[in-house]
Amino acid sequence: MYNDIEVWFVTGAQLLYGGDAVIAVDAHSTEIVKGLNSSGKLPVKVVYKGTVNSSSEVAAAFSAANNDRRCVGIITWMHTFSPAKMWIKGLQEFHKPLLHLHTQFNKEIPWSEIDMDFMNLNQSAHGDREFGHIVSRMRKNRKVVVGHWSDERVQERIGTWMRVATAWADAQEMLVVRFGDNMNNVAVTDGDKVEAEMRLGYHVDYHGIGDLVAYQERVTESDINALVEEYEALYAFAANCKRGARDHGQVREAAREEIALRRFLGDKGAKAFTTNFDALHGLNQLPGLACQRLMAEGYGFGAEGDWKTAALVRTLWVMAKGLPGGTSFMEDYTYHFNGEKSAILQSHMLEVSPEITTGVPHLEVHPLGIGGKADPARLVFTAHPGAGIAATIVDMGNRFRMIVNNVDVIEPEAALPKLPVASALWIPRPNLEVGAAAWILAGGTHHTAFTYALTNEYFEDYADIAGIELLTIDEKTTINGFKFELKVNEVFYR
Ligand code: MN
Repeated sequence: MYNDIEVWFVTGAQLLYGGDAVIAVDAHSTEIVKGLNSSGKLPVKVVYKGTVNSSSEVAAAFSAANNDRRCVGIITWMHTFSPAKMWIKGLQEFHKPLLHLHTQFNKEIPWSEIDMDFMNLNQSAHGDREFGHIVSRMRKNRKVVVGHWSDERVQERIGTWMRVATAWADAQEMLVVRFGDNMNNVAVTDGDKVEAEMRLGYHVDYHGIGDLVAYQERVTESDINALVEEYEALYAFAANCKRGARDHGQVREAAREEIALRRFLGDKGAKAFTTNFDALHGLNQLPGLACQRLMAEGYGFGAEGDWKTAALVRTLWVMAKGLPGGTSFMEDYTYHFNGEKSAILQSHMLEVSPEITTGVPHLEVHPLGIGGKADPARLVFTAHPGAGIAATIVDMGNRFRMIVNNVDVIEPEAALPKLPVASALWIPRPNLEVGAAAWILAGGTHHTAFTYALTNEYFEDYADIAGIELLTIDEKTTINGFKFELKVNEVFYR
């Protein structure tokens, strides 16, 4: 359950049917909202905002929703016939997520009782079509959920949208801090930060690594002692990392960086950040452990200055809050070719979130052959088997494109005793041959935001709210069909 936020419920009707009808509509709406809130299926509280019967009432409700920070979206429902011209002005102004709940108060037709009065009062089948027409005519994206409001499936679909709407609201107030720039010469991690703020909401700022070094200098030995004790309680220390052993000092330096990073991000109000192994002047080591732990706390992270993935990791984490599974920054690293079982070993130099393991991570220190710094500390583990989704957003020059690939994380065929980093082994759907080809044809990144917690519906809702292109690679994907979709989208988004 998310705190301090709401979704508003607005019922459409008109005064044609007289005062008794208005009273009944209001009572039914109140009962529906009560039912939704007590279902236990919804992560956000629904607040009934009354029945609207005119253009000015609609405009007032939508404008109030725009201006209320607690409101992350509106659910509309037409109890009776609500002539849709009255929705135009409100919809023109409204800029938050919209869900059209196509339901009706009664579940079944009262066969022996039904008369014209009943039909005129309970005509969502009719009124919701009129409403849907104007939203489509105005080319506004919204989610349409069909079914009785007491149905678990309906409630779950509303819940999914609520999580996405909450993450969307979070992104509208997201600061992404970049320490250093993008890795030189890399194309896919770069992009238009101005367009990102206009389209996706978040703001990206640059900081020289010296700004973090200044924080690091204020970290005390007792701050470090306390954090190292926390590490000792949570992780299995490698022999060389234990107190008194050769690399324990590196663990302490990692703790110093973590404390500095957390304080810096806290002071800036940042929700996501990037690092770059090329810009570490004044730091002892590439922050690995710190990035891993901060990700698990909900900070978005992207390596090598990858601010788009950092923001997406944060957004997926917010959507998944309280759900089983986990979310992490990830990178396609190495292939295992083995026919239909061909898989991709996912990892990064250091930065994989411990949210995606059910085991106890090992805290280890090893040399890193890149960046020219001292040996960094990191958590080492293998991600658990299960279905997940890898997602990315790329800048195609004239638009942002979201690509998602359903994947199946599998157990490695054997242990990886010499691999000094966290990893996951997965098979992209429908298989490596098609999945990787489609991803590459779409221009997908080597970095992804990975999650076990979410389904494709979350990404559909997100892309609709953001108004960006969505390409899904799953068990139904064929290269032929995918190429066709790419071509059609080139025309659609021209
Ligand atoms: Mn990378």
